[in-house]
Amino acid sequence: MMFCPKCGTVIIPKKTKTTGNIRLSCASCNYATNKKEKIVLKEKAQLDKKDDIELIDKVIETLPKTKETCSKCQHHTAFYWLVQTRAGDEAETRFFKCVKCNHTWRKY
Ligand SMILES: [Zn+2]
Ligand SMILES: [Zn+2]
Repeated sequence: MMFCPKCGTVIIPKKTKTTGNIRLSCASCNYATNKKEKIVLKEKAQLDKKDDIELIDKVIETLPKTKETCSKCQHHTAFYWLVQTRAGDEAETRFFKCVKCNHTWRKY
């Protein structure tokens, strides 16, 4: 599983409209990488946008949960994951996603 270095959202393979090539793209911002992830490409090349969203939900469901209070709805449980930002010597960023309202935020 890969995460966007910009916003921490799960990165999914998407077919580009112009070339028809598969690129790994962030689901929430416009980040995209040319890096190819061989294993997932074949299987997910056929999926349309709606399936992409369902795919993300499935991935999110497998994330570990932690006690963290959501700033939006005050719910006290959130999914969390770590993202290594750009250079390898930088500290990891912790991302949280409220299990109730899906609000996503980060901590350094
Ligand atoms: Zn992003
Ligand atoms: Zn919430």
